[in-house]
Amino acid sequence: FRMQTSTNQSIKPVTAEINELGNLSIGGCDLVELAKKYETPLYVLDETTLRNICKDYKEAFSAYKNVNMMYASKALCTLATSAILADEGFGFDVVSAGEMYTVYKAGADMKKVLFNGNNKSISELTLALELGVGRISVDNFLELSLLNVLAKSMNKTAEILLRITPGIECHTHEYIQTGHLDSKFGFDLTQIDEAVNLILDEYSNLTLRGLHAHIGSQIFETKVYHDEIEILVKELARLDEKFGLKLDEINIGGGLGVKYTESDCPPSTYEIACVIIESLNSSVQKYGIGYPTLFIEPGRSIISTAGVTLYTIGSSKQVPNGKKYFAVDGGMADNARPSMYKAEYTASVANKPDAETSQSVTIAGRFCESGDILIHNIELPELEEGDILCVYNTGAYNYSMASNYNRVQKPAMVLVNNSQSDIIIERETLDDLISHDRIPDRLKK
Ligand code: PLP
Repeated sequence: FRMQTSTNQSIKPVTAEINELGNLSIGGCDLVELAKKYETPLYVLDETTLRNICKDYKEAFSAYKNVNMMYASKALCTLATSAILADEGFGFDVVSAGEMYTVYKAGADMKKVLFNGNNKSISELTLALELGVGRISVDNFLELSLLNVLAKSMNKTAEILLRITPGIECHTHEYIQTGHLDSKFGFDLTQIDEAVNLILDEYSNLTLRGLHAHIGSQIFETKVYHDEIEILVKELARLDEKFGLKLDEINIGGGLGVKYTESDCPPSTYEIACVIIESLNSSVQKYGIGYPTLFIEPGRSIISTAGVTLYTIGSSKQVPNGKKYFAVDGGMADNARPSMYKAEYTASVANKPDAETSQSVTIAGRFCESGDILIHNIELPELEEGDILCVYNTGAYNYSMASNYNRVQKPAMVLVNNSQSDIIIERETLDDLISHDRIPDRLKK
């Protein structure tokens, strides 16, 4: 089981192949034709890859009785993807009214939704109570008191987890580490007792069910999960002893990495499931408590590999004695990760995926920032204006972080499966861009 591979370990979607025309295809759809039909930049999402990773997760954790799989919507949240994930039996981790509303509209069972976030607003907490989200992960003292007041006013009881910072450093980019002690998220371990006292003595409209932590993202080491579980289970045992509290839920967050480039070697879902289940077994025995219900909330590892982005190659520039740049029709507004995290990507040319690589080039975006470089030094074949570049592994944290910088319209997204392509997000129009603008009457001529 531990040796089985899972789709987060592949750079390309599982259906990627070269078709009879010599073009790259995904989900049985020729990417050159998709680019023609829907224009570029275009996000393409492969349903088979997405459903495969869901099965990898479910199978990997099948040995543990009580598991709640919640997809972390922040990675990519759309009506269609939420409907697929709900169909696969996943719940949802949401961090805003927008994500909550999207999964609700997609038909998610709201009892399987968990609301996270370090500064939830009154209107967001109210919406969560109205829609009946199953768990709210409370991040801080202000939220505890706010939520209690709101729940009381609505005559409800909110079932909560406490988000804690377990003090674990993982080796990932500092902006995506979240479990270290100096983090903006959650209660410090030393603040838990005060929070528990408040819940037990004053906040009668809150029911504490367990603890929640998330240690970071794009994680390749499995040991951090062992350390995290040890800390969470030890805390459950300590709270039982000190307060007589029988908490029976732990949420260990998400974080499993994906393979953006050949040098990335993420573990499989099977490997991390083995470590997580073994750690639960050993720590439950060590601290003498019952087996808790386990929540996991992966985002990137569920959706990243299923997605690619198609761009059209435009202008180029050879710096004398320097780099060769090729510019594409998208960039940092549809994929912020390279400029934000120095993230690396791999790409192929969809209309000549088999051609010999002949040059090391830099793929530049079209936005007005020198830092808008999508890929530094990638080996590609000869390129011409009009070639279609397919950048892999863009399903997560691309569309969800997209902006309208330079007043450029956000791209469309298509879902491909069995040689069929369906628009799941329309390309924005110029009128969409100005649809929220208003000119005050006094400025009208
Ligand atoms: N859960 C929490 C609380 C998070 O903050 C995040 C991401 O930042 C996730 C889950 C999802 O992480 P990933 O996409 O790395 O699986």
